[in-house]
Amino acid sequence: MPRSNQRTLKKSAECVGIGLHSGRPVSMRLNPAPAGHGIVFARLDQGGRRVYARAVNVVRTSFATTLSENGCSISTTEHLMSALYALEIDNVLVELDGAEVPILDGSAAPFIYLIHEAGIFELGAARPRLVLEKPLSVSEQGGRITASPAPSFSVDYSINFDHPLVGSQNFRGSISCKSYLSEIATARTFCFLRDVEALRRQGLALGGCLENAIVVGDDGILNDSLRFEDEFVRHKVLDLIGDLALLGMLFVGHVRAERAGHRLHTRLVQEILARPDAWRFEGSTEVAAHHIPSRPAMVAGGSQTASL
Ligand SMILES: [Zn+2]
Repeated sequence: MPRSNQRTLKKSAECVGIGLHSGRPVSMRLNPAPAGHGIVFARLDQGGRRVYARAVNVVRTSFATTLSENGCSISTTEHLMSALYALEIDNVLVELDGAEVPILDGSAAPFIYLIHEAGIFELGAARPRLVLEKPLSVSEQGGRITASPAPSFSVDYSINFDHPLVGSQNFRGSISCKSYLSEIATARTFCFLRDVEALRRQGLALGGCLENAIVVGDDGILNDSLRFEDEFVRHKVLDLIGDLALLGMLFVGHVRAERAGHRLHTRLVQEILARPDAWRFEGSTEVAAHHIPSRPAMVAGGSQTASL
């Protein structure tokens, strides 16, 4: 059973890494924040300008989720958001001295470590919960996500890639803090070697290497080994949770995703927020109100993405 009060960190914790797409070094510090603050990114290299982690601020979903507010952008937010959501951390000020959250090992595990290093502090305010009461779905280009009412958060995710080493994979299960830590958190991002040159021509994956991504060649995995036989679909679940975290509330419902990616994950979040007849609030509505869209969001990016 999820905790009913909002949580933050006991103290700050920081790390240094590189941006997966930019290839540039970036320092990140996670700081405690009060109830109702939410997850907010601050760009120290731009005078501390802030970007609120909410669905209306998603501007790009090609191979990562990019948030932007008042001309200030933060990319590759999804693995950190996934870890914060899974550990039920509602309020953090994330300070960065660059445009991208560091990729670290390509999974959520280093962020989990960082959060545990900071410690978790329970606040005296109720956590907002969004309880789905009617089914909703979004689809495009062969991908589809359906969300339906359920007593707790669960996921059924299927991928189908035209590559013998990945092929069809499915992950199905309840998502709790405990199950996330043992089954999802360590699953790394992945890409196909055949796509790497094209990505780099687009200025993407410049920081990608075998230390922070699974690279799938024509004849095998270039890394030493996989962490799970079905690590690919587990990473897609990790990404889905990170994108769903942009609801800013605990989600209570079942999500079935087929051949999806950041764009479709984000469209689901926007569809949920645009359909208040399909769910009810529980807990603090004051925080939840920050997340209701005030303008239609335009999202660029493809459907089932190979990776990231
Ligand atoms: Zn990812």
